[in-house]
Amino acid sequence: SADVEYLRGLLRAFPDYPKKGIVFLDIFPLLRNPVAFETLITHFVHRLTSHTIAQSPSKKIDVVVGLDARGFLLGPIIAMRLGAAFVPVRKRGKLPGETISAEYQKEYGVDVFEMQADAIQPGQTVVVVDDLVATGGSAKAAGELVSKLGGKVLEYLFIIELTFLKPSEKLDAPLYSIVKVD
Ligand code: IMP
Repeated sequence: SADVEYLRGLLRAFPDYPKKGIVFLDIFPLLRNPVAFETLITHFVHRLTSHTIAQSPSKKIDVVVGLDARGFLLGPIIAMRLGAAFVPVRKRGKLPGETISAEYQKEYGVDVFEMQADAIQPGQTVVVVDDLVATGGSAKAAGELVSKLGGKVLEYLFIIELTFLKPSEKLDAPLYSIVKVD
């Protein structure tokens, strides 16, 4: 659609960042441009309120989970538009009180995500948001945290999907991305 091509055209690729051989896709030009940012958020909200997901009142979205750190720039705005809660998933050691944790594979070694243990109630419906999905490892760990608390992930949402890494194969719910890169 026109939205998708508009947003795709504003992304920037940085070759050899943060390391040689990696092409880093930068979403910040989308946030810097108020029209693009509005288009982006409205695109996600439309997706989440369309019949695809929210078919019935029982499919109302209770919680938007955002992943550390760029998911924090998208999730709260989407949550407020939906009248849903926002819950952060953070890297280990950043959240007070009782937490639950899940490991995921990074390029070198393992990292740990945490969520506050009282953040999601059993039976709540959840969507998980981040800027970009590559292998799907971090999204999968976030999904595990939601499941541990008895929540149900309806969908995983990203601006960008690196389709050649087949992230959807790792996930237990549908993956929606605005821009596909192969
Ligand atoms: P995954 O766990 O392999 O799916 O990697 C996704 C995570 O890496 C997300 O938190 C992304 O923000 C980050 N990431 C990986 N590559 C890029 C990139 O090119 N641009 C922005 N973020 C990236």
